[in-house]
Amino acid sequence: PPPPPRPGPDTTIQQKGGGLLGRPADRVVIASDRIELYHAHATTMIERGFGYVCTCSAEAFREFRVAQQDCPCRDGTTEVHVTRWEGMLNGAYRPGDAVVRVKTGMNQRNPALRDWPALRLQDTVANPHPRPEVGSKHQVWPLLDFQSAIEDHLQGVTHIIRGKDLMDSTRKQTLLYEHFGWTYPKTMYWGRVKVHEWGGFSTSAMRKDIESGRYEGWNDPRLPTLSALGRRGIQPEALRTFWLELAITQKDISVPLTSLFSHNTKAVDSTAPRLAFVRDPIRLPLKDGPASATLVRYPDEPEKDPRQHDLASGHVLVESEDAEKSAFRLKDLVDVDLEDGVLHAGSRERQDNRPIVHWTVDAALPTTLVVA
Ligand SMILES: [Zn+2]
Repeated sequence: PPPPPRPGPDTTIQQKGGGLLGRPADRVVIASDRIELYHAHATTMIERGFGYVCTCSAEAFREFRVAQQDCPCRDGTTEVHVTRWEGMLNGAYRPGDAVVRVKTGMNQRNPALRDWPALRLQDTVANPHPRPEVGSKHQVWPLLDFQSAIEDHLQGVTHIIRGKDLMDSTRKQTLLYEHFGWTYPKTMYWGRVKVHEWGGFSTSAMRKDIESGRYEGWNDPRLPTLSALGRRGIQPEALRTFWLELAITQKDISVPLTSLFSHNTKAVDSTAPRLAFVRDPIRLPLKDGPASATLVRYPDEPEKDPRQHDLASGHVLVESEDAEKSAFRLKDLVDVDLEDGVLHAGSRERQDNRPIVHWTVDAALPTTLVVA
């Protein structure tokens, strides 16, 4: 059956009205609300003779498939199969005892295409659907290739973009469309796109780690989800440029996350406020330093909302690690030499290659840094 819509990366997309997609969805279609429609198409398929209800065991059918032989069900009359189908809907069969198959031919060269299964029984009394409004309402569930094929047609889909690992789905669905007399959408394939930094992630592993508390949720900044990227400040246009640059190719490609980040830097450069961040601060006296500082917040618009710092206390905060150096430059302020725990201010202009460090003042906001 189609994977149940548990809360996951995709539900967050809907909730955020589009989020990193840059725009909300025009239409949200929930397959589990439309099971009757898929049942109706199965009825059509059976009545028109290109679908049948197979009551062979999975092992028995596997042997027919390997041997390229019809199973005993296949030649049954339409009446027999309509009756069996009604039985599936009415609870006359147990899960595993009957499946609806699409007649594609047991002599198909590709075994996956041979009379592939379209709908099957699920024990939704023992395992209800996670959405309470669906719960145990249906026992007959479409498999993904059937469900998405029918839905693509109902939604008027003209183009499918999918991973090349789903080429067999295209072939299976094309045979189904021929039976219905529909035109199959134009299909394009992606190769595997691997992001260096995210090599080992899978949705099920992420779900487990979220449930165990290792990650705080789908938007944990360490995770490769759209909501996490959004939280990290990635802009929709950066993501769009990233994918446009990769283009649709069947080649397997591997890209570093830094490539997305450089697109994002371009996207936010003029609007991102410049701030100072001091981790693990140490407070040091600053001798002969300026009494105040006016720092640029937006380099493209230096006059806009500058950062004003009062230095009347004669102290600044720097990172403890930086305080191990003997000479450095307080960023955008002044060169300093550190002697016996006191910063001695020197040149206001940068004079040499001493390292530049972030600094701040007593009034700075306490902040938690979340490292991705
Ligand atoms: Zn059979």
